[in-house]
Amino acid sequence: MSRVYNFGAGPAMLPLEVMEKAQQEFLDYRGMGASVIEISHRSKEFDAIINRTDELLIELAGIPDNYKILYVHGGAQMQFSAIPLNIINRQPDRKAAFVQTGAWSVKAAKEAGRYGTAIDLASSKDSNFNYIPDFDPATLTDDFSYLHITSNNTLFGTRWHEFPETGNVPLVADMTSEFMSRKLDVSKFGIIFAGLQKNLGPAGLAVVIIREDLLEHALPETPGLLTYKTYADQHSLANTNNTFAIYLMSLVMEWLKEQGGVAAMEERNEAKAKLIYDYIDSQDFYYGTAQAAHRSVMNVTFNMQKEDLLGDFVAQAEAAGLYALKGHRDVGGARASIYNAMPMAGCEALVAFMKEFAAKNG
Ligand SMILES: *Cc1c(COP(=O)(O)O)cnc(C)c1O
Repeated sequence: MSRVYNFGAGPAMLPLEVMEKAQQEFLDYRGMGASVIEISHRSKEFDAIINRTDELLIELAGIPDNYKILYVHGGAQMQFSAIPLNIINRQPDRKAAFVQTGAWSVKAAKEAGRYGTAIDLASSKDSNFNYIPDFDPATLTDDFSYLHITSNNTLFGTRWHEFPETGNVPLVADMTSEFMSRKLDVSKFGIIFAGLQKNLGPAGLAVVIIREDLLEHALPETPGLLTYKTYADQHSLANTNNTFAIYLMSLVMEWLKEQGGVAAMEERNEAKAKLIYDYIDSQDFYYGTAQAAHRSVMNVTFNMQKEDLLGDFVAQAEAAGLYALKGHRDVGGARASIYNAMPMAGCEALVAFMKEFAAKNG
């Protein structure tokens, strides 16, 4: 068996130990003679799996008692619809505020606009989203139902290093590409949500951490399976959920705990990103795409002065076992996604390859 270093943005690489454990348990889950994929979502075995996943999330992310953990169908983008359906009615004007930092917040605002008014408080579109713009806190008045941000911008390689103070307005954060990679004060957020496929497990499901008081505002026409209260009241099992995804997430969380938890992972992630950024800043064959003060720790975006060499760069990297380095088409260049599962050795291999490529083509 040979495995590459997978720099793809998502679905992304999972820890090898997790994949091996899932493989070992696949045919016969812990002596029961059946696979997790074959048993009822209401079985005692699955009940133990979902309870354990909750327990690990509460412990590792520090989730306070007045929050619920939901496992919601449809990945991250389904929450772009579910969030306004569930909370835009919190205030009578049905207004939602956005800070536009990339394609994902733009899409989320478009969905919110179906159910109310989406208002941009700030945007970095003018420079192809290569930084996180400031907004004037006075513009976030209490008549907004919520403020939506994308905490880490997967395509553009920026992130919110500090989160905004939002007073009485709940802060909603799309953390799909960084949840569980950095320490957080969950109590500052109304809703945190993340599609699983970047840092947590397979695609198709999102984990939603929601403050309890926000469960009470759903628009009456909200479909039952997009109503967060339905999930909260029925432990995400109103219908057959993606049990295998929840199981894999529980294994990823066990792995994260063994690694020392989120604080240890954050340190490791910062060291990984620093290695690549320091190299990029030390020479002039390559340059970083995002403004240095706003750089992501999860998605390192860069390009080369001789842009016509990009195709060769990506192809030769792949031949050397460094997979999926092509950047998103909206940004161009290259992107190294280095989520929790990417070891330091993968980042070292990337920098060694970049040096070699620059020496040959400089
Ligand atoms: C990948 C990603 C999404 C889209 O996730 P889906 O599960 O495909 O809907 C949304 N937001 C962010 C920040 C992402 O990185």
